[in-house]
Amino acid sequence: MALVVQKYGGTSVANCNRIKRVADRVIRRKQQGDDVVVVLSAMAGQTNYLISLALEMQSQPDKRELDVLLSTGEQVTISLFSMAVKARGLDAESFLGYQIPIETDAAHTKARIRNIPTEKLKRAISQGKIPVVAGFQGVDEIGDITTLGRGGSDTTAVAVAVALGADVCEIYTDVDGVYTTDPNICPSARKIDRISYEEMLEMASLGAKVLEIRSVEFAMRYNMPLHVRSSFSESPGTMVVKEDESMEDVLVSAVTYSRDEARITVKKVPDKPGIAASIFNPISDANIVVDMIIQNTREGNLTDMTFTVPKGDFQQALEIVERTAKDIGAESVVGDKGIAKVSIVGVGMRNHAGVASKMFDILAKHGVNILMISTSEIKVSCVIDEKFTELAVRALHEGFGLDKENQD
Ligand code: ADP
Ligand code: ASP
Ligand code: MG
Repeated sequence: MALVVQKYGGTSVANCNRIKRVADRVIRRKQQGDDVVVVLSAMAGQTNYLISLALEMQSQPDKRELDVLLSTGEQVTISLFSMAVKARGLDAESFLGYQIPIETDAAHTKARIRNIPTEKLKRAISQGKIPVVAGFQGVDEIGDITTLGRGGSDTTAVAVAVALGADVCEIYTDVDGVYTTDPNICPSARKIDRISYEEMLEMASLGAKVLEIRSVEFAMRYNMPLHVRSSFSESPGTMVVKEDESMEDVLVSAVTYSRDEARITVKKVPDKPGIAASIFNPISDANIVVDMIIQNTREGNLTDMTFTVPKGDFQQALEIVERTAKDIGAESVVGDKGIAKVSIVGVGMRNHAGVASKMFDILAKHGVNILMISTSEIKVSCVIDEKFTELAVRALHEGFGLDKENQD
């Protein structure tokens, strides 16, 4: 008998019929003898809808109030799901974040989980019930509702699995696993059977939305096996597990893209010690994560500083940088939201030279200009004009042979 945490994403619980189907599926698993804990997202589109309502009230919605609003999406699905289970003659008990409680820090809209007491969940399991946990939400030290950031139900699921010492965490979504690239924009994408935590972490942080970044971080840290699969079929999905030797044979495992970043350039900054700190400290104080940074030296002891931030933080970052620019005597600040980042990921890159230049060649052949580059041991990323995103993804996917069974 295994203890399984199953997370169902928005499309899997998009309406009452789908919620009933998920209930059937969970019950089948329970009747096979496994203990199941369920974590649910809001219905597909609901979180976006709630955000659009907030934006009608305030151009930059108050984050504490936004969390109160957004947490309602998951409240709907966990209660409906529990009713569906009860209608089928089994017992379920729904839990909002504060009821467990899922303890987080106070960083509204991007809170981090600190601790999950397991008493209530264990009690429900021992009473033969199916505990149903609201994904994406928690509660901070003073009892305020927090949310974990978009896609955060994945993180709730893995954190609950780790806290309970589950055997596996299953992530049910609208694709039947992790693919060599987003199957929705590249028809020749192939399903990957097994992938390492490290590659999955890079993929997630480079835009592959199939798993949220922190969920992979958690799983990797605690060695929790993840099984990404479809809620619409019984076929096995992708296992995300510890790296083994065979994984290194593959040079490039996946291509990812992200349209979620924006670029800011501070022009003609006096080039002297402390300048980078004065630009970036206020941004990090605002809890905004800077990704790529490039510094270009100009004549006359001046430099341009270009960097990327999440699109959602763009306006706030721009305002902060404009203030700093005045203080440090920079000429101007320019923002650009029309960019995308395309990346290749693979643990095999560690031992091979020439992968980055092959990527640049492929992009050049397709007439795609590279605006920024960054590399790590197992990935290469290029920022490009947003309008070339799909072209670049497909070209790289084909160029690295990911559309074929046995790539080089
Ligand atoms: P859920 O609502 O179930 O959490 P998400 O929309 O967050 O689902 O994640 C699933 C989506 O991730 C897929 O529909 C697909 O478009 C996207 N995706 C991006 N990159 C990949 C990839 N490499 N493999 C699979 N899916 C991917
Ligand atoms: N409902 C939240 C979102 O759409 C969390 C999730 O689905 O994982 O981001
Ligand atoms: Mg998701």
